[in-house]
Amino acid sequence: MNAAPLTLYNSITRSLERFEPLDPAKGVRVYSCGPTVYSDPHLGNLRAYVFTDTLSRVLTWKGNALTHVINITDVGHLTSDADAGEDKMEAAARKQGLNAWDISRHYADVFRRNLADLNIRKPTHMPLATEYVERMIAFAAEIAPKHCYEIESGLYFDSRTVPDYGRLAGSQGDIGEGRIDPVEGKRHPQDFAIWRKTPVGETRQMEWDSPWGRGAPGWHLECSVMSSELLGLPFDIHTGGIDHREIHHVNEIAQNQAHCSCADSGAHFWMHNNFLVDRDGKMSKSKGGIATLDALVARGVHPLAYRLMCLSAHYRSELEFSPDNLGAALTRLKRLVMTVSGLKARIGDGGSVAGAYRARLDEAVADDLNTPRALPVLDELLADKKLSAEDRIATLAEFDAVLGLDLTNLTREALRVRPAEATLTAAEIDLRLADRKQARVDKDFARSDAIRDELAASGVEVMDGDPLGWDWKAAL
Ligand code: AMP
Ligand code: ZN
Repeated sequence: MNAAPLTLYNSITRSLERFEPLDPAKGVRVYSCGPTVYSDPHLGNLRAYVFTDTLSRVLTWKGNALTHVINITDVGHLTSDADAGEDKMEAAARKQGLNAWDISRHYADVFRRNLADLNIRKPTHMPLATEYVERMIAFAAEIAPKHCYEIESGLYFDSRTVPDYGRLAGSQGDIGEGRIDPVEGKRHPQDFAIWRKTPVGETRQMEWDSPWGRGAPGWHLECSVMSSELLGLPFDIHTGGIDHREIHHVNEIAQNQAHCSCADSGAHFWMHNNFLVDRDGKMSKSKGGIATLDALVARGVHPLAYRLMCLSAHYRSELEFSPDNLGAALTRLKRLVMTVSGLKARIGDGGSVAGAYRARLDEAVADDLNTPRALPVLDELLADKKLSAEDRIATLAEFDAVLGLDLTNLTREALRVRPAEATLTAAEIDLRLADRKQARVDKDFARSDAIRDELAASGVEVMDGDPLGWDWKAAL
């Protein structure tokens, strides 16, 4: 069962490789770089976790026990991914006139809620970086004698002390000058802070004592420490967005090598999802005016439509976020839900899994998580009249386990998310629609149009003659 050999793209070797657990007795251990919690996660960030959820679902589907860590970066990430700027948490606290700890608590909660809305399974651990500072100091103290040097601004890692620094990023030139702002006293442009001292005369909201003075840990150090503490080095798979391939993961690898006094990167596979982009390029929090999951829901879009949109593209391809793409995903989801509800109306008890469809699903996702290839197989299954409704629904559960679309439970009512701007309740919308239907029966078109206009003013678009029998939708 589920026997197709799993191949995954490994950014370290830049090739597809057969995946086998490093230590089957420990199950599969996965670490995913988590969000920096100084503002709402945007849809691009969430694409990264739809990807890791697909990965973890496929690993489970393949029969592996899984330990999955997604950390929460609540200190240490500077406004520049390189080694300059201000801590994002401190900057947000200053701008919003709030406490950095409150900001982190608030946005970590938003993140957890967004994951649940996207039917992303809870990872085994979600550590906060601030809870690991003691262990970060111990890790830094251990590697410092051979690999670090202290300057006025902090403790820096000497990138020349490990073999093959920057291998992950491709060419060493890519990660050198130009991308990294100069810091007074650094030996090489690629060297990076693992402990940043609070400048004399300043205090930070988040700071700790260390052998190198009061200050805060570097962002790269955090991930090396949380992954080694919770999973043990080396572990199976490390994930992140493709931006992490150039600096953050390069530096994690350097620290891991220093820690083990060996050439091992610390993870067997390094996997990176590509960006969600809009017409102006990569979505990012710093651009402002960004799209969040809550904003989509407020416009009447069910969160799983966004999940489906992500699954429609391979995780290593760029995906464009546009009203058209989102609308197409929502229509596709509606069609699936209506088809499933039609099948459910015809089933009795039981049903058995249609093996050929399971095998095709298995082959698709075993091929580097090829979800765009799995989705048409799902359409075919649901439309296959040679199978009983029972068998189709039973097989659907297998697709749900891997794709996380929850089609077994999702109902038409749940999909009809009322736009936040709508001044009418769902019951009032239904009432207006019934009135309008009657007006049309009575051939009172003036009244029918007036009701349609009233609904439109409330953000609800009436859909006459919709092939899916959908009587209204939110105006996107
Ligand atoms: P951050 O909160 O900025 O640390 O990012 C959290 C995760 O989202 C990281 O894995 C990033 O690489 C990823 N990420 C950031 N922007 C995008 C984007 N536009 N598309 C896909 N992933 C992204
Ligand atoms: Zn990380």
